[in-house]
Amino acid sequence: MVENTSADHGAHGENLHDIAIVGGGLVGAAAALGAALQGWRVLLLDRAEPAWEPGRLGMDIRNVAVSPASMALLDELGVWRDQQAIAYSHMRVWEDQGTRRIDFDAADVQRHELGWIAENGPLVAALWQRLRAQDGITICTADRLVGLEPGTEAVKLHLTKHGEQASADAMTAPARLRVRLVVGADGARSAVRQLLDVSVEAFDTGHHALATVIRTSKPHDGTAFQRFLLDGPLALLPGRHPRQSSVVWSQPPASAERRAALSDPALCQEIASASEHCLGSVEEVDQRVVFPLQQMLAASFNPVPRVLLIGDAGRVLHPLAGLGANLGFEDVRDLLNELDGLLPGDDPGAAGAWASYARRRRIRSRLMVDIMGGLRRAYASNDPLLQWLRNLGVGWVDSSGLLKRQIIREALGLGPLARVSRRSLKPEL
Ligand SMILES: Cc1cc2nc3c(=O)[nH]c(=O)nc-3n(C[C@H](O)[C@H](O)[C@H](O)COP(=O)(O)OP(=O)(O)OC[C@H]3O[C@@H](n4cnc5c(N)ncnc54)[C@H](O)[C@@H]3O)c2cc1C
Repeated sequence: MVENTSADHGAHGENLHDIAIVGGGLVGAAAALGAALQGWRVLLLDRAEPAWEPGRLGMDIRNVAVSPASMALLDELGVWRDQQAIAYSHMRVWEDQGTRRIDFDAADVQRHELGWIAENGPLVAALWQRLRAQDGITICTADRLVGLEPGTEAVKLHLTKHGEQASADAMTAPARLRVRLVVGADGARSAVRQLLDVSVEAFDTGHHALATVIRTSKPHDGTAFQRFLLDGPLALLPGRHPRQSSVVWSQPPASAERRAALSDPALCQEIASASEHCLGSVEEVDQRVVFPLQQMLAASFNPVPRVLLIGDAGRVLHPLAGLGANLGFEDVRDLLNELDGLLPGDDPGAAGAWASYARRRRIRSRLMVDIMGGLRRAYASNDPLLQWLRNLGVGWVDSSGLLKRQIIREALGLGPLARVSRRSLKPEL
């Protein structure tokens, strides 16, 4: 293992790496680990070591629903077994304007679970722990990326120390690395994307998310709840403790600010009544986090030769279907499959397959961005005709075994839509 806090620039100010991953969140850390396990020399750049603190109720406020396809990837990377993630086997979806609901059950598709709810902080920490123990990875948190210079043989990365001004001098400073393939996994405000001037389609969701953790009078019994309210969906996801659930409540910014400022008992009451007391009464609520929700799609996932965008750097989805990180893990799976097809000593950046990789990933992302936008708009309307159609559709899906099973398989990342965007999925689940 080679671990630095500052990038090693070599005796001549330049050093050649196979792959640089910029951003060590869920997606970038998984990509770095997977590539190193395949034997590539990987440089992982992040602006800081990840850190997290549990809230008052002992859980991270940020949670992700992890699909079986994502779990299989994390398991191969050796980071899943120790997770205290909770399996969920039921999901109930209903709306405040409707009379029907859909109940998804793992047994419908002959599985024990629909997925798992993992706390972000511990999952990222587990990935970094594995990264630190893995040969072939250089971790750099001391330098900041200020320039990218794509070339025919490699991409030059220009770095400055954190806190230093990014001036024109940075372009001639010795802090320069040469990398065969650069993977931008640096999140929604990706520096890689911005340095290359990649345009984005940004969609205003009109929502902020209020995230917190609650303790309820009834146990969740491994059920995830999603109720579509006129001003946005409210999700209750099962936590490690049988009577704790994490909350993601998407709503207009003013409502989110108002609710975030409520006293604990008043917020407990609002969450309980907005969720129709599906978990009984809400007895305790943790600290609240409010942040804007955007949807975004980058114009290209391979904007210049030897540079890829993955995870939230390429697309950001509304969290209503809990798919953002899962789509990012799909990017990683597909990336690793492409790299796996190369021979030792091959130049990973020269792979002719990156253009079609990027096209596949963008088509998949476009589809999911459009579906999320459509769902959100459909449930935001109180037009009586649309309400009637929604009820009809919900009732029909709930009673139609075949369609329901297909929806479940897609949500698990195991359906034809998920597969068509991948070259291959190793474990057929
Ligand atoms: C409320 C909410 C609920 C969600 N629930 C789910 C869910 O249930 N299931 C699901 O699949 N997804 C969910 N998501 C989406 C999911 O959280 C994201 O899609 C996922 O975390 C994106 O991971 P990432 O690694 O691409 O980006 P990030 O997690 O944003 O990581 C980016 C990394 O890049 C680093 N970085 C940033 N800038 C730089 C720079 N200039 N140089 C170097 N490093 C940099 C950051 O420090 C960070 O480590 C949810 C999102 C929200 C907002």
